[in-house]
Formats: sequence, C-alpha cells, structure tokens
Amino acid sequence: MRVAQSFDGLGLGNTEEGTLRDSGASCHVAIIGAGPYGLAAAAHLRAEHVETRIFGEPMAFWERHMPKGMFLRSSASASNLADPDGRLRLDRYHALHGLPHVKPVPIEDFVRYGHWFQQQAVPDVDRRTVTSLVADSQGFRVRIADGEEFHARRVVVATGISPFARRPAQFAGLPAPLASHSFDHADLSRFARQRVVVVGAGQSALESAALLHEAGAEVEVVARAPGTYFIPDWPQTPLVRAARRLLSPIARPPFDIMGPRFVSWLIAWPRLFRRSPRALQDFLTGRAVRPAGASWLASRLAAVPITAGRTVAAATPTGSQLRLRLDDGSERLVDHLLLATGYRVDAARYPFLAPTLLQALRTRDGYPELEVGFESSVPGLHFVGTPAAGTFGPLCRFVVGTRYMARTLTRYITHAGGNGRIRSGRPTANGLLAVRHG
Ligand SMILES: Cc1cc2nc3c(=O)[nH]c(=O)nc-3n(C[C@H](O)[C@H](O)[C@H](O)COP(=O)(O)OP(=O)(O)OC[C@H]3O[C@@H](n4cnc5c(N)ncnc54)[C@H](O)[C@@H]3O)c2cc1C
Repeated sequence: MRVAQSFDGLGLGNTEEGTLRDSGASCHVAIIGAGPYGLAAAAHLRAEHVETRIFGEPMAFWERHMPKGMFLRSSASASNLADPDGRLRLDRYHALHGLPHVKPVPIEDFVRYGHWFQQQAVPDVDRRTVTSLVADSQGFRVRIADGEEFHARRVVVATGISPFARRPAQFAGLPAPLASHSFDHADLSRFARQRVVVVGAGQSALESAALLHEAGAEVEVVARAPGTYFIPDWPQTPLVRAARRLLSPIARPPFDIMGPRFVSWLIAWPRLFRRSPRALQDFLTGRAVRPAGASWLASRLAAVPITAGRTVAAATPTGSQLRLRLDDGSERLVDHLLLATGYRVDAARYPFLAPTLLQALRTRDGYPELEVGFESSVPGLHFVGTPAAGTFGPLCRFVVGTRYMARTLTRYITHAGGNGRIRSGRPTANGLLAVRHG
C-alpha cells in the first residue's frame, strides 16, 4: 500500500493514497465562523488544496439576528459570496432555481442562497461552536463546545459582529421585555399593537421602524443625527451603465452600498486603504458608514414620526412600560425601546480568545491591526469581515468584500507570505490535501 506523507510536525499520521486519515487531531487552517466570510475563505482555501476545517452554524447571524421581511441594502450584484471561479453567484442561484431577480433582495432569498453556496462549496461545515483558542507550540489549540480539541497551524476568525452589539450605557440594566437591541430579534411582528421607540438613524433603525409600522405597532424613531438620510439610487442612464460595464473588470466598485460615489470608488481598493494616511482612512470610513437608509425605505416610513437631533436621556421602568425622557425635556410612555445602535468592534470581547492571545494582539480602537493576508500581530491568527475594516476599510463590512478577502488570504497562506508554504500534496476523497510544509 502506498502512503503519502501528510502535514509534517502536526501529529497527523500517514495517509493511504487518496484518503486523509483525519484523526481530528490537527489541520492546517481552522476557520471559526460559517457566515459569508468564513464560507468564502474556506471555498478558496479548499480550491488551492489547503487542508481546512470550518466551524459554526452557516448563515446563523442572518437567520437569527436580522428581522424577517428585511431587504438587503446591498444590491444583488454586491451580494455574491465569493467562490474561486465565480460559479456560485447569487444570479446563478436565482437562475438555477427559477427565482425572479427582485430588487431589493429579500433576506429570506439571501439566506437560502447562503445555504446553497455552503452545500456546493463547503458541504462539510462542522456546526459546533468554538469555545477556546490558545497558542501552543504547533500553532493553536482549538477547543469545541463538546470538549473536543485539535491543533491548527493557522486560525481564521470569521465570527462576524455578534459579540459587539452596542448598547449605550444609559440603557444598561433595563429589563429585556422593555428594552432590547436589534441584534435580539429575528421577527418584529411580536410588537404588533405596541408602542415602540426605535433609537438610531441607520439602515437597521429605519428598516426596523418600517417593519414595526407594517406589523401594526405604533412607532417613533429617535435619532441623534440632525436628520435622516436616504442613499439615492444610481441613475440608470445609458452612460452610467456603459461606465460600469467598462470599469467593472478593473475595480468592481461596490457602487450602491457605501455612501457617496467617490467614496465607493476609493474604498474598493482595500490595499490602497491600508496604506492611506490615518486622516484619509477616518474620512472615508466616516463617509462610507454614516447612518443612512436605502432609498426604498423613504416611502415606507412616510407615516412614521422621526424625531431627529434628539437623544433619549433617561429611561425608567413604570409598571409594564418604560418612561423615556428626551434631551429636549419631552417624555414618551412606551411598551418597548428598540436600540438599533449598531455594533462596535472590540477584540477584547471575543469570548474564545485566551488572555495570552489578547495580550499579544495589537489593536487600534478595538480593531485588530492586520498585515497583508489579514494576519494579526499574533503569527498565524487572521481576522476577516468587519473586524478587518480597521485595516482594510469599510469594504470588509459587507458581503461584497468576501472576494478581495478570500483571494488575498488564500494567496498569502499558499505562498511565501504564509510561512506554511505548500510544497506537495495529494487530493483526498473529501477534496482536502495532505500537505507538507517547509
Ligand atoms: C441589520 C443588518 C443588515 C445588513 N445588511 C447587509 C447587506 O444588505 N449587505 C451586506 O453586504 N452586508 C450587510 N450587513 C453586514 C453583514 O452582517 C456582513 O456583511 C456579513 O454578515 C459579514 O459576514 P461574516 O461572515 O463576517 O459574519 P456573519 O454573517 O455574522 O457570520 C459569522 C458566523 O460565525 C459563527 N460563529 C460565531 N461565533 C462562533 C464560534 N465561537 N464558533 C463557531 N462559529 C461561530 C456564526 O454562527 C455565524 O455563522 C448587515 C448587517 C446588519 C446588522
């Protein structure tokens, strides 16, 4: 029987030709998180025969922490999960399943698309939760919820923004039935016939208000910003269409999801963003992610009062209701306060990172500082998705950024940048490769 040497030094045994004897003891890359970023990274690494394990409930954030009936703010063309040869695009999913191309994209469609992508590209996602990550002599020791442990030479953290929901201090301690974060809801219809104040002026706040209104709640939006802003659609003139066709092979700017057009163009180059002066980075980020709603929300909010330029200064439980005092002295008695106050990345809040890893992790404003290849100051530890936006810019906050991320990460890991250069290997039954490292 011929054997192929696998994964030197990491405890994997020899493999029979064509099969990887996976003792579960080690792997080259472990990806934590099976949302758009984790799935795209796994698809690209597997295509380059990098032995990769991926953990997490696929598309769980979209299913459990975004409201039913929501529409994507990003256009269909900016909502593709990246696969190496572009076969698993959203429009292809629609065509294969005989689904109409609707604008904007309903979240239910997008979630089904995400599961289809996962089944096609990464069918063996391990749905268990990673509970601990510790550095060791072989790279990292990864522990899973049921106590199983294994070693990984590299770890890609792709767990999204779940740990980072921002709840302003003045609302801490309010009972959950009276106040919640938008993260807590997958269905807002439970607030039908209730009086609800939504705090915030971004897409999530404005869309939640529209959904609450349509579900029969009495809603008011309170926003600190002096007014609400709706992102205008790109005009569909022949000139714009021609320009997009001409320029997309070069840059593929995410035209319709991020602020003014010149900002969209500039942040379409994450590598350039990374090298830009801090002042320019801050300016671009501020413009790209300022609170705003999609154009199609404006008409749905026509009957919803929006109190702009105000904050909720105090919230006091009164029986089964909440008394709110705004900074202009006015009061509201509500059944519920919905905080659509967004997310703030803070690496210290990852529940699975060992304290020693956290100490070694260089951060800036809570975001891990990353090098080319999305690698942090801890060698072999990578962060993708929104936490990478501190280095690579706002593109990383959106699904459209999966393409740049997956290509860059994979190139880094398979070439000289990643010290685990792949020298040889043999494809196995499950598409993995037993590899030897230099
Ligand atoms: C209300 C709202 C609307 C949005 N609309 C858009 C939009 O229209 N277009 C757009 O491009 N972006 C949108 N976004 C941003 C969007 O959330 C991100 O683009 C996208 O989800 C990022 O994907 P991700 O893979 O980084 O994270 P996620 O989609 O959050 O996936 C993270 C995955 O990690 C898993 N996980 C977490 N912890 C662990 C663990 N310890 N072990 C194992 N697995 C774990 C979870 O189960 C989950 O599957 C929106 C965000 C919000 C909040």
